[in-house]
Amino acid sequence: MVVKINENYLKLKSSYLFVEVARRESEFVKNNPEADVIKMGIGDVTKPLVPAVIEAFKDAVDEMGNAETFMGYGPEQGYDFLAEAIIKNDYEKYGISLETSEVFISDGAKCDTGNIQEIFGIDNKIAVTDPVYTVYVDTNVMAGRTGEMEDGMYDGLTYLKCNAENGFVPALPEEDVDIIYLCYPNNPTGTTLNKDQLKVFIDYAKENKAIILFDAAYEAFINEDNVPHSIYEIEGAKEVAIEFKSFSKTAGFTGTRCAYTVVPKELIGYDSEGNEVEINPLWNRRQTTKFNGVSYPVQRAAEATYSEEGKKQIKEIVDYYMANAKVIRESLTDLGLEVYGGVSSPYIWVKAPNNMDSWAFFDLLLNEANVIGTPGSGFGPSGEGYLRLTAFNTLENTKEAMDRISKLDI
Ligand SMILES: *Cc1c(COP(=O)(O)O)cnc(C)c1O
Repeated sequence: MVVKINENYLKLKSSYLFVEVARRESEFVKNNPEADVIKMGIGDVTKPLVPAVIEAFKDAVDEMGNAETFMGYGPEQGYDFLAEAIIKNDYEKYGISLETSEVFISDGAKCDTGNIQEIFGIDNKIAVTDPVYTVYVDTNVMAGRTGEMEDGMYDGLTYLKCNAENGFVPALPEEDVDIIYLCYPNNPTGTTLNKDQLKVFIDYAKENKAIILFDAAYEAFINEDNVPHSIYEIEGAKEVAIEFKSFSKTAGFTGTRCAYTVVPKELIGYDSEGNEVEINPLWNRRQTTKFNGVSYPVQRAAEATYSEEGKKQIKEIVDYYMANAKVIRESLTDLGLEVYGGVSSPYIWVKAPNNMDSWAFFDLLLNEANVIGTPGSGFGPSGEGYLRLTAFNTLENTKEAMDRISKLDI
């Protein structure tokens, strides 16, 4: 006998994208040591936690040092004080009612969107958008729901193309699928779905007894009236959708770690005999068995994002990033480039001019403007010919980068 590995891991392609971006950047810097390179590929926030959050965070740390207020193991699903604040501020505001037992607090939307597939059968047919946040794909590869990768796509997965031709609105899958991952506002394209466009997917899920896994990590950046802040704003969505949200991009928690997942009681799946089974207890069982909750001070810090000051301070930061997004969008549009996203998202998706491919456009911007983006082809075959720029740099750098690009002959 020998130990056998999970061979599904061998199907995974190395994350070539960011490694290759870093390699080309360091080679450029080596050859041009005096160049001032501006990074517009940053997929992380850059502003620190706001004062209201820091204050609550510190107070909670002090509580941990006092025998009377010390907190040990908490509920795996998170403390009620945070679940209640989430329901009140992120849902009741939009006319959605939830119970605290439908909100599962966690240490990240990456973990939750990656782990959720465990509670679903191995023979479900999965659909993702193309381009895509790779976590959805890779976790299904690891679980064994796919074959090998060919031409940038895994055998057995359904890819829903999003490109300029369809206005970045994916068409419904042509074959029957059971689980559809959607991320809106979208990473990487920065585009959104309005309520009617999202309702098409809800209707599909109802008709086909399918489930939608809805990643709303960028909800805080929404600036358009008809774009839903929660999938549950659409009638009937509670019966067919799980929603993921995160404090990471909203409130700068990328290094602090707090997120949540909503699994409504109405949501059902089916056993092999076709009997209805509630999904909420399955996720509850998964979390209570494999996860031990988010630390108490972090949950208090997350709660503070909903205080009056917290909300105001966070909005200022979101507005700062979105002002950068506007600068990028408008400067590149003025240059005659095709630009998408950046209205309700910190991501701007730029079509490379003159039929250049993603890497050629990346090299042009790096060599001629000393600006770094992220090649769209790294997010899937439909990303070819696009480049992602982000609004997470400073306003000064963003303006400087746009100035330099404006001087290029493109
Ligand atoms: C950043 C991001 C998240 C958030 O992940 P955390 O683990 O909560 O930091 C989730 N989904 C997408 C698409 C993201 O880009």
